[in-house]
Amino acid sequence: MQESEFNRWLLAAIGRSPTAFHVAANVRDLLTDHGFTLLEESEPWDLSTPGSYVVVRNGSSLVAFTLNGEDPARTGLRMAGAHTDSPALKVKPSPIRRSHSYVQLGVEVYGGALLAPWFDRELSLAGRVSWETGAGGLDAGLLDFARPVAVIPSLAIHLDREANRNRSINSQTDIVPILMQAAADGNEPVFADILLAQLRRQHPEIDCRAILDHDLFFYDPAAPTLTGLAGEFITGPRLDNQLSCWTIARALIDAPERKNSLIILSDHEEVGSGSPEGAGGPLLDSVLERLFPEPGQRQQVIRRSLLISADNAHGVHPNFTDRHDGNHLPRINHGPVIKINAARRYATTALTAGFFRLLCRRQNTDVQEFVMRSDMACGSTIGPLAATRTGMQVVDVGVPTLGMHSIRETAGTSDCPGLLRALQGYFSLASDDPLWHGWLS
Ligand SMILES: [Zn+2]
Repeated sequence: MQESEFNRWLLAAIGRSPTAFHVAANVRDLLTDHGFTLLEESEPWDLSTPGSYVVVRNGSSLVAFTLNGEDPARTGLRMAGAHTDSPALKVKPSPIRRSHSYVQLGVEVYGGALLAPWFDRELSLAGRVSWETGAGGLDAGLLDFARPVAVIPSLAIHLDREANRNRSINSQTDIVPILMQAAADGNEPVFADILLAQLRRQHPEIDCRAILDHDLFFYDPAAPTLTGLAGEFITGPRLDNQLSCWTIARALIDAPERKNSLIILSDHEEVGSGSPEGAGGPLLDSVLERLFPEPGQRQQVIRRSLLISADNAHGVHPNFTDRHDGNHLPRINHGPVIKINAARRYATTALTAGFFRLLCRRQNTDVQEFVMRSDMACGSTIGPLAATRTGMQVVDVGVPTLGMHSIRETAGTSDCPGLLRALQGYFSLASDDPLWHGWLS
């Protein structure tokens, strides 16, 4: 796939995936369209023949793997991981608020969102809803209004003369989206009825008596786009971490010769990963236990496996260069970044970093490195959780990004194609290649 073609595909995939639920469903569909067999965790698995499989948990996390017939206890698994969720505003259980002539929806802040950019944007609403069926059963599915339905207007500067110097944002009172004008008769709208009407518009065939509950998030429905005079930047919502999710999935599909491989895309990274489907939970362990039930064999597989954990890295911002260590200044369009931290907020070691560096060199991909300023706290990602839970070796990497956790972030057009090439080479790496397992100590 040409770089420009891949970037077009990438932006369209992000545009179609407003929440972690949509990422998991869309990646699942992409993989099954390319020959992966869908497995259910609640059913027995027949893995007796070599093949490619995908399993989804909670509708928001996904594991896919290829077993090519080689003995995994000798070859290990070429693993890659990323997270499906992004910071957002999550709708409260009983969200309707009425203030003067406005109907608003109460929200909680999901993850470490940069709140200021949420003002004055057209917002849409998407996620998952559960409902009662006509027969009194329980069912659930995806919902997406897919058009602007709300806005959070700024307070005019005339009413807050300090706004450009000192405006703080109260997440309970200041960022409540306006959904509509109140009816003149004073009747309150019922949120479940609004959702039911949207569900019926989207899926007229669904047998739904009443909406029961919802996991819904406000999001920016404006499509991700190319910008910069030469179109060298990507700006868009949810680049952290959908750039990595989609690049990993595409690399797995397009790898010239897919070896024993596994990808894991986890929800809830932005809130600490502590859930049954998050990277702090048992999903990866459960899959490995089912693939390799004999503990000794499983340990061999884990010790011979490597996880490339991909999550966006902080590119150096030209207006704020002092926020970086002067020797570690990742630049957009200069390649994926290896992330290193002495306190193990990243799981990279000299061996795993060395592996990724050689892999990128072989795949004609530039590579950079990032370490936080010593006087600033470092973020983290799924890599250290996978390393700590399973004992496998991990390298934390990511494409450089500006404005991380804003409602729209900025990245480069050549960094994801570079990561794609590296991962395609990785998933195809022969088991007797001197690079593979060079990091075994
Ligand atoms: Zn991230």
